[in-house]
Amino acid sequence: MWKRGLNWCSVPVLDFTETLSRQSFFLSIQRGLALVLPLVMIGALALLLRNFPFPALPILLDSLFGNSWRIACDNLIAGSFGIASLAVLCTFSGALTMFHNQSRTGQFVSPVMAVVVILSCFFVVTAPAESTLWKTVFSMDRGLLVALCVAGVGCGLFLRLAGVKCLQLPLGTVAHDPMVRDVFTIMPAGMLTIALFGIIRAALVMNGITDLHGEFSALLTQLFSHARNDLGFGLVYAGISQLFWFFGAHGPNLLFPVEESFLVPAGIANAKAILSGHAPGYVFTKSFFDVFTRMGGSGSTLCLIFAILLGSRDGGSRKLCLFALLPALCNVNEPLLFGIPLVLNPIYLLPFVLTPLVQTLAAYAAIVLGFVPYTTADVIWTSPALVSGFVATGSIMGVLMQLVNLALGTTLYYPFVRLSEQLRERQGRLALNALLHTATGSAVGAGGRKCIERPGEEGRLAKALAADLLVALKGDDQLFLEYQPQVDVTRNRVHGVEALLRWNHPAYGRIPPPVTVALAEDTGCIDQLGLRVLKLACRQRAKWKGRVSEELLMSVNVSPYQLESQVFDRNVIAVLDASGVRADQLEVEITESSMLTPGVVPVDVLRRLRNSGVQVAIDDFGMGHTSLRYLNQLPVDTIKLDRSLTDENRGGINDHIVRSIVELSRTLDLTTITEGIEEREQLTRFRNLGCHIFQGYLFSRPLSGEDCLAFILSWVDSPAARACAVK
Ligand code: C2E
Ligand code: MG
Ligand code: MG
Repeated sequence: MWKRGLNWCSVPVLDFTETLSRQSFFLSIQRGLALVLPLVMIGALALLLRNFPFPALPILLDSLFGNSWRIACDNLIAGSFGIASLAVLCTFSGALTMFHNQSRTGQFVSPVMAVVVILSCFFVVTAPAESTLWKTVFSMDRGLLVALCVAGVGCGLFLRLAGVKCLQLPLGTVAHDPMVRDVFTIMPAGMLTIALFGIIRAALVMNGITDLHGEFSALLTQLFSHARNDLGFGLVYAGISQLFWFFGAHGPNLLFPVEESFLVPAGIANAKAILSGHAPGYVFTKSFFDVFTRMGGSGSTLCLIFAILLGSRDGGSRKLCLFALLPALCNVNEPLLFGIPLVLNPIYLLPFVLTPLVQTLAAYAAIVLGFVPYTTADVIWTSPALVSGFVATGSIMGVLMQLVNLALGTTLYYPFVRLSEQLRERQGRLALNALLHTATGSAVGAGGRKCIERPGEEGRLAKALAADLLVALKGDDQLFLEYQPQVDVTRNRVHGVEALLRWNHPAYGRIPPPVTVALAEDTGCIDQLGLRVLKLACRQRAKWKGRVSEELLMSVNVSPYQLESQVFDRNVIAVLDASGVRADQLEVEITESSMLTPGVVPVDVLRRLRNSGVQVAIDDFGMGHTSLRYLNQLPVDTIKLDRSLTDENRGGINDHIVRSIVELSRTLDLTTITEGIEEREQLTRFRNLGCHIFQGYLFSRPLSGEDCLAFILSWVDSPAARACAVK
């Protein structure tokens, strides 16, 4: 489907990444992170305001509100970023449990219970010793990795233990409420899971580990104890801090001691050297990383935003990027880390780690070769990209270097944005196929709705598409019609055209019309959609006036739901009047499966319509829903033979059915149209059975209005027409 760039479909990495990213574990992480986005967004904005890079705004706020705006910001940060890891713990384990429930019919584990068990596990391992602050445990930058580990390991264990028969309490009728019974059944699994975390904690404490984050940070810092300020150090530091971010731990914070004891002094030494007229000696300083490799925050996520804005067709991702742009401009990357999400997202691992490495290398080379000055000044970490480049180096070359690095990063992220979209499209297509199956089937869900009540991915996609359909109905660029000619081979002319609905979805491409129609029926906008189709079809027919035969019929499909409206016929007449199309130039098609029987509302509406001159066709006829007995009592002019009848081999029972339908319709003076003619043999066979009006790919696929007109005008003299004339 992609025309530009590398086609990842030909690369095995796509299958591998897709397999990974479709694992319920990774999907749960993505959902878990995305679910806490409101916290992250408000936290990001509060953080940005609290550390605003230009003093004018804080001064203004001080004069207006005193110190209270700072207190408000701090409270917002504490209540959002400050508890983000706890929130992710809950959302991640809840999502894992929901996937478990979907994939295993028969065993239901309450997501609320799973969240409660995992909360308990979390506190068992992290319950602070006296000196530790709760903030450390709950906050996003310090607690997220432990939260993800506890939720991943704990929830996996709990769900597994919940399925172990000998751990289930046989208390079938413990209460009237089935939920209470479910809880009792898996209670031992929950207790065991928590107890195991108790053992882990005891083992840690016995080994002298009370502050996981602190211990880990100390361990990492040791790696750099003998480091020198050279390229190897720069790359290892940039790479490690990125890698930890990928796993949900704030890399630069984990490596804070390195920053404090190594990078900050290097910056000060550079500044002193400049002051004393010497050449600065350290390439890698805190400012170097802030300015050249963390534009938009760790991972140079500003580049990812540009790559998405440049290359993504997905409206949702683009919108998220617009939301994330302001914080990212000031180097707050959390909205993106949680929103895309980047944390533990296998698709973005490579560029997320590679981008800062390449940028480190490029900026190092530029400084060493003398193109860009050394970083000699401190930069407030929220200073926007380009401004920060100038402040840190005191030269426009610093800004140019940032531009080069932004371009490099965007180029690196770009193919992965495409890959991510291809995967999403692939997964979307699978869900769309399932939805098509549902839409064309006869089963209906709760409230008579076919699609949007479906469980799992299918239902989620249906709901999202239904919302998009409402948007599409407001505009005029996504919904349009194509026209498929119906050819009368005996009279050697085009008998009519069928208008077929098309929806070009911005992310999923073409949506099959039965899905669009079922979604419109589910959400109650079918009247609006039907009216749109009718207007477009009539407008097209009016455009052809004078160029095609007056007898050429425009056929429009109508959903049985539309006929439930008592004013449907009046609406149709109003559209005809407005467009200047004669009533007898329009035909409405209603599928046979709508169970047309005399005396029901839809039939009355159809009768009124027919009395005003509009023709009526029964679509997909031959499936046995309409009793032939009723055929003469129904207000019908045309029957369209179902494609399943044309598919069958010659001489089968279908031939007898077709012959009797053709004979009956001749007796009742009805027109018969045979659909789905793809091969010449089918044409010959149906001609021998007495049919003479055909619609199908052999003649033409559905066409745009212009192409269809060209087909109609050229048909008489075409070689195809001459071939059809020979029986
Ligand atoms: P339908 O009314 O029976 O339309 C004929 C369908 O068969 C069209 O599919 C057409 O593209 C396809 N077709 C035509 N010739 C051939 C052929 O030779 N071989 C094969 N394999 N297929 C052929 P499409 O456009 O996907 O529409 C599917 C169905 O969606 C329609 O079946 C109709 O029931 C519904 N639909 C389409 N547009 C509308 C609409 O505006 N309103 C309503 N209510 N339903 C619509
Ligand atoms: Mg039709
Ligand atoms: Mg049909």
